[in-house]
Amino acid sequence: MQIDGNFESGNIVVHNITAAEAKLSIRHDSNARYYQWFYFKATAAPGQIHTFRLTNASDASYPHAWPGYRALASYNRQDWFRVNTQYNENQLIIKHRPRLETTWYAFFVPYTEAMRGQLLADCAAVAQVETLLTTEQEKTVDLVRFGPPDAGRKVWIVARQHAGEPMAEYAIDGLMRRLLDNEDVVVKALYEAGIAFYCVPNVNPDGSALGNLRANAAGIDLNRDWKQTLEPRSIEVAALLKRMHAEGVDFFLDLHGDENRPYLWLVQPHPDVLAPAMAETQQRIESFFREQYIEYGSLTEDPDALEADSGMAVDYVAWTFKCPSFIIELPFKDTFGPDGEPDSLLAEGCIRLGRSCLDLIQTIMI
Ligand SMILES: [Zn+2]
Repeated sequence: MQIDGNFESGNIVVHNITAAEAKLSIRHDSNARYYQWFYFKATAAPGQIHTFRLTNASDASYPHAWPGYRALASYNRQDWFRVNTQYNENQLIIKHRPRLETTWYAFFVPYTEAMRGQLLADCAAVAQVETLLTTEQEKTVDLVRFGPPDAGRKVWIVARQHAGEPMAEYAIDGLMRRLLDNEDVVVKALYEAGIAFYCVPNVNPDGSALGNLRANAAGIDLNRDWKQTLEPRSIEVAALLKRMHAEGVDFFLDLHGDENRPYLWLVQPHPDVLAPAMAETQQRIESFFREQYIEYGSLTEDPDALEADSGMAVDYVAWTFKCPSFIIELPFKDTFGPDGEPDSLLAEGCIRLGRSCLDLIQTIMI
């Protein structure tokens, strides 16, 4: 058997390989202690059971991610399916009998630079595409602006501050592609109401390409870099924040993935940073998801256990711009949809969820 993780978003360390079994581990994020994202290619004789042991799984950033989790596999990197996965003896053990010689295995369905390139090219005909920043690894953080040039209100949507959460990029892809459709009645109504959309499909392209879970190339967790009391340490957040202040923000959505929970949920701003006038709106946002999604699960956290100046964008924006602000967390684990269909929030499901965010924004802003 041969194992390779030396490609875009790849992450694996090989320790020992026999014909049917590989002892592997997950590499740490660049310059950081986090790790969890894995993605590798196995080349081996088809038709027999292959076992892949991720030997450092129990010390990963979210060890609770593993019980009940099943890894994704693909023969062509287009069609992905779940494979038998056990969390046993502190190892994540993937077992699969492949039909073909080459199989890719990943923590979630990867969203690639080529897909982002195609999205931006498709947007360029209708929207304004600009480079917000060129990163340390010479990749671009792209900003796409949709809607009337004289917009009175501005919606900001960002995805993938955390590098290894590709579900977030699938969701924003669905949302941005819907914004391209001027015939869509919801899109039309939003534009006619003087609402423009500022979308950043990947805030952390370096980390994504490097196969990181959370950090950028410098090892910074971007969604802990929005302190109200400190200047950002990362060039990504600094550039985004500067632009948000220059344009203004009237609605903010930050898209993420959740390792532990097998459902869709929201992170609301800390009560101490929430403008009193926003409390009801934030509840309406939550009601929208509760009513629309069978996969929705609420999370009750004790606010006293959380920090108001958390460094998370959701808190910074609620405090600074006094506007609706929330995180959508999409699961790495399997979900069941309204008709019992499995994996209802895999890539296609994330795209659908992104599209439906425009229905929510219409409900809240018009
Ligand atoms: Zn995240």
